[in-house]
Amino acid sequence: MFVFVPEGQRAIGNHNRVHSSTPTDEARNRKILTIPFLSRGPFAIAMSNDSAAGPSAVAWRGVRKAYANGHEALRGVSLEVARGELVALLGTSGSGKTTLLKTVNRLIEPTSGEVIVLGKATRDWDPIALRRSIGYVIQDVGLMPHMTILDNVALVCRLRGVERRARQARARECLALVGLEPSRFESLAPHQLSGGQRQRVGVARALAPEPALVLMDEPFGALDPITRRELQEEFDALRRRIETTVILVTHDIREAARLADRVALLDRGNLVQCGTFDELRDHPASDFVRAFLQETTALGSSDPEDRS
Ligand code: ADP
Ligand code: MG
Repeated sequence: MFVFVPEGQRAIGNHNRVHSSTPTDEARNRKILTIPFLSRGPFAIAMSNDSAAGPSAVAWRGVRKAYANGHEALRGVSLEVARGELVALLGTSGSGKTTLLKTVNRLIEPTSGEVIVLGKATRDWDPIALRRSIGYVIQDVGLMPHMTILDNVALVCRLRGVERRARQARARECLALVGLEPSRFESLAPHQLSGGQRQRVGVARALAPEPALVLMDEPFGALDPITRRELQEEFDALRRRIETTVILVTHDIREAARLADRVALLDRGNLVQCGTFDELRDHPASDFVRAFLQETTALGSSDPEDRS
């Protein structure tokens, strides 16, 4: 069921995005099928170096993170995410996925190594400008409880000074995009929505500023298996239309297999293998990779996270 984009949905944003490069075959193939209607349109924040930045949306170079208590959450991770790609950061709980993701929007500063985001090292980005340039979707969404759904979705555009009518129109477009009829939902408060509806609002809010990059941390993890599957399918259809780079944290191998162009498997702060799901399954780089894929896929028909 693909209801993220209702029939007759008007294309939004302008069409002048220049994609500098599509380095993977998959990204190149997918580009033929995509409609560049959302990313980097009139609401997109101007980013220095953006067009001249080369192929990577994000590059981690030898990133280490030791927390204050001495725990080494990342032990020298290097990984590149191409523009337009969806990469899943996969691994068991505590493997460092969230830590790695948060180095992208500077919620966490690496102890050493560097992270290049849209052509510029994160330490050279103003943290506030960086966060407003990147969509961020987390498990419990983090909607403002006292604000309406419309104001929640329009929030980042407001912070960036987009005029009221324009940002509200944009927020309505994004609500429709994620399958929430604006007239029915826009005036409600977050607590009046179901978990699945709130999660859709979280996706709409992340997409409203037309980010070139969206970070998602277990975005569907709190949902029941049926709603989760539905949102996964709808999100998959949506992101193929909008050409945004997505980095998705998940511990669910099936979610990674469904959604990701490439999977990056982490184990205790190390990146153990990165490739397509088929590559990891058919050519595991280590016993750990083989065991991880086998154990998770052997669990049966229901989702593994329901058992934890
Ligand atoms: P994941 O998202 O893969 O479950 P995290 O990146 O959240 O893992 O955490 C990686 C490791 O770092 C875990 O062992 C976790 O307990 C530890 N950790 C996370 N945040 C902190 C912190 N603020 N201080 C100390 N240790 C932390
Ligand atoms: Mg996590």
